[in-house]
Amino acid sequence: MSKLSVDLKAPNGRSFNLPTGLFINNEFVKSSSGQTITSINPANEEEICTVEAASALDVDKAVEAARSAFNDPSWRNMPATDRGILLYKLASLIELHASILATIETWDNGKPYTVALNEDLAEVIFVFRYYAGWADKLHGDTIPTTSQKFAYTLRQPVGICGQIIPWNYPLAMAAWKLGPALACGNTVVIKAAEQTPLSILYLARLIKETGFPRGVVNMLNGYGRTAGAAIASHMDVDKIAFTGSTSIGKEIMKMAAVNMKNITLETGGKSPLIVFEDADLDQAARWAHLGIMGNAGQICTATSRILVHSSVAASFAVKLQDIIHSTSKLGDPFDPFTSQGPQVSKAQYERVLSYIEAGRREGATIITGGTPAPECGGKGFFISPTIFTNTKPTMNIYQEEIFGPVVITTPFETEDEALRLANDTTYGLGSAVFTRDLERAHRVAARLETGTVWVNSSNDGDVRVPFGGVKQSGIGRELGEEGLRAYSTVKSVHVNLGMRL
Ligand code: ADP
Repeated sequence: MSKLSVDLKAPNGRSFNLPTGLFINNEFVKSSSGQTITSINPANEEEICTVEAASALDVDKAVEAARSAFNDPSWRNMPATDRGILLYKLASLIELHASILATIETWDNGKPYTVALNEDLAEVIFVFRYYAGWADKLHGDTIPTTSQKFAYTLRQPVGICGQIIPWNYPLAMAAWKLGPALACGNTVVIKAAEQTPLSILYLARLIKETGFPRGVVNMLNGYGRTAGAAIASHMDVDKIAFTGSTSIGKEIMKMAAVNMKNITLETGGKSPLIVFEDADLDQAARWAHLGIMGNAGQICTATSRILVHSSVAASFAVKLQDIIHSTSKLGDPFDPFTSQGPQVSKAQYERVLSYIEAGRREGATIITGGTPAPECGGKGFFISPTIFTNTKPTMNIYQEEIFGPVVITTPFETEDEALRLANDTTYGLGSAVFTRDLERAHRVAARLETGTVWVNSSNDGDVRVPFGGVKQSGIGRELGEEGLRAYSTVKSVHVNLGMRL
């Protein structure tokens, strides 16, 4: 093994070798600036290892590699079926290495190992297989016009795609972006979040092993304000796809304007979950728990605002508390019984606690949680699942994305009021509605100002179904057939069949 790798033994006893370099042109290389990122285990605050962090110069090299690969016949002229075969092979390799990838994800991010393996890795494999199947089914149309003209469209790749991903689902977010980009024949420079730099490095090795031509996929670690900004503002990057906070999404838009990049953004949310008086309250409480406490609340579509009809508000609150007490098991993410790990980093942990403090100060009532988790012994970034009642739309905890295991509940009286409260936000990512009334379910779904609505469930995604936001939750869609549109352009060809001037 080259020096740009490290032998590691994870807390679950798994030993493996991890590359630590920047993955450019199918090689792991050092950072030109010497900058590094040290990854911390959020469950015990100990260092895991240190990896290379890209400078703007390294981003230039990665973009050059991606441009050369894009122009190289080995990729440009590769039959679409063969691109699909490569994606399919990558999915199989990931499947073979799933337990190591899940180990890395859990160690670096803090999510329970059972979740990393059975949900995140399962999704990653599914996404690559799904887009593998699409690769040779993308085509243009012939468009009837006049008898003297033949018009058709070509679906072509956008070019060099810069992809900036967050830390809450590192591998899944990489798959959501790589799958459609590669299916369409683009080349990629992808950057992981500085909080979770490790799993993409192992994935990079599998990409090389799969046999993708050099430069087709370049994977970088690096800080947002240096490497991320260099990608977003690069004059030779044709598209930028970003998942992260709304404030950075706005920065990315400005940077992308330098050469008018094609852009896809998936940003923040403050997703409402509405419980009507006729709902199955047990099920509503279970889905609400999953929707906000899953991934320690670090989900962009977390249903973090529960709007509940006043006649069932008290009994719903009791049910939600009971479910937290009976099913939220905080602790060692490698323990198979753990359902909630730590927040990803000290900064996130402190941010969530400061929101809890702000909620207290603003006069909301905490009926459960509200503290660092006492059962975790003071080490690691654990926060108890927290329920606020007595919240008002004027409060910060009502309006702002907390990104932690903190839910606020607000009563309503009528359907119109529920909709007004639900839509009274700058965000528009997800929403959920619980009712047994079929007509009301569809009426409300149509009026909710969000990219996704769940009827009698929450955070129930599917690779085949488009995902994205309206308002300040984003631009464009990922996943499903829609996800391919973001990575292809349509060229119109007009052929003159005899019109003479
Ligand atoms: P969070 O606040 O949840 O950490 P961010 O939006 O800050 O989310 O980060 C999401 C991704 O965006 C990460 O990969 C991060 O490195 C990157 N990023 C952060 N700041 C910038 C920036 N100024 N320009 C480009 N990318 C950035």
